[in-house]
Amino acid sequence: MSEQHDPERIGTLIIGAGQSGLAAGYHLARRGLPFLIVDADERIGDHWRHHWDSLRLFSPAAVDGLPGMAFPARSAHFPTGREMGDYLEAYAERFALPVESGTIVERVRHVEGDRYEATAGSRRFVADQVIVASGAFRQPSIPAVAASLDPAIRQLHSSEYKHPGQLRDGPVLVVGLSHSGADIAVELAKTRTTYLSGKSAGELPIQVTDTPRARFGWLIVRFVATRVLTMATPMGRRMAPHVRSGGAPLLRVRRKDLERAGVIRHDAKTTGVSDGKPTLDDGTVVDVANVVWATGFRPDYGWVEVPGFVGDDGWPTGTRGVASAAPGLYFLGVPFQWAFASMNVFGVGRDAAYLIDRIAERVRASAAANDGSGSRSVSSVSALPTSYPGSSRSSGPT
Ligand SMILES: Cc1cc2nc3c(=O)[nH]c(=O)nc-3n(C[C@H](O)[C@H](O)[C@H](O)COP(=O)(O)OP(=O)(O)OC[C@H]3O[C@@H](n4cnc5c(N)ncnc54)[C@H](O)[C@@H]3O)c2cc1C
Repeated sequence: MSEQHDPERIGTLIIGAGQSGLAAGYHLARRGLPFLIVDADERIGDHWRHHWDSLRLFSPAAVDGLPGMAFPARSAHFPTGREMGDYLEAYAERFALPVESGTIVERVRHVEGDRYEATAGSRRFVADQVIVASGAFRQPSIPAVAASLDPAIRQLHSSEYKHPGQLRDGPVLVVGLSHSGADIAVELAKTRTTYLSGKSAGELPIQVTDTPRARFGWLIVRFVATRVLTMATPMGRRMAPHVRSGGAPLLRVRRKDLERAGVIRHDAKTTGVSDGKPTLDDGTVVDVANVVWATGFRPDYGWVEVPGFVGDDGWPTGTRGVASAAPGLYFLGVPFQWAFASMNVFGVGRDAAYLIDRIAERVRASAAANDGSGSRSVSSVSALPTSYPGSSRSSGPT
């Protein structure tokens, strides 16, 4: 066991230096509130650099900027994963955000005085506030049927897929029709017979291409995704559980693009095995040499050891990122945290601004209570509503 160091005292500890953690850092810095961002990766932006080589964002540069810094590219350009990673790194540098990379937080717990202790190897941080910004798309979700396939079939989850060269010769079945499944199937169809199993949760009504017209369309998409599809509207509340369980509509690559690429689509899900081969729930047996599971991710918050932090669906519970579990605990980047766009680069800035306002209130109340000049306690200021109106719990995403 590593020797424990003395605890490091911090105002606000942000766990995760992706777009969510950096946007939160930007707003804290503007308010002059002390904070530290810690991140497991070696380099800021690595999460984006490690997606498949040909990845392009589905959102154009016009809407990919975080607060205070536009994405440095033509507005209709769809950035690559590497460009997005480099942008995040440049963002942290530009605003001199204090980020400690290579620091994996293994445990967060609530300690006396409504503070939090976070442990990372031999280091201990004690913070008045903690923002969990650890990302919603990190823990692969793979159906149990994968374990029964013929061992000769090469299997990869979309998070492991980098390029077609990783696959064996022969046909491939891509399972799951969301952004990743659609993107990967189009790429693979250039070199081999490609089947795609699963239904999409709809698609964008406009073609998103590298043109000024599409850029205008995207401004509308951003408006709808941040202002219309929110927990404040009946439409948003109806949609939230579906998005949380992994059902987002197709955006850049749509069904027509799959047809044009020659992808053989089956609406049926992949649910069984026959002679070691994957079978669909309409009885079709798909004879392939490879399977790519584009079946999404599941929530991964077991290391936040604060009772009640997650709900029945595995996602944190609270209002707009203010955790209902305990005062001073917050989260960011969760699907439909407040709006459809909460999990997207074009939605996280607003969510972060809202959270930092709440943190500033808490800090002010705490200072007033300590001076004896105010009567409100920290806890009473943080006692915000504990659930969304009309929200419902769903099973974990696939
Ligand atoms: C393939 C793919 C394509 C996408 N394309 C788009 C797009 O085109 N446009 C768009 O708007 N959105 C897109 N998204 C959705 C979303 O914007 C990204 O997932 C984005 O990375 C989310 O940012 P985040 O900061 O919330 O989480 P992440 O980027 O996952 O960052 C979380 C950070 O937390 C760190 N971390 C996690 N656990 C710990 C721990 N215990 N201790 C310390 N550090 C920890 C990680 O190292 C990581 O750096 C895409 C998602 C995927 C998966």
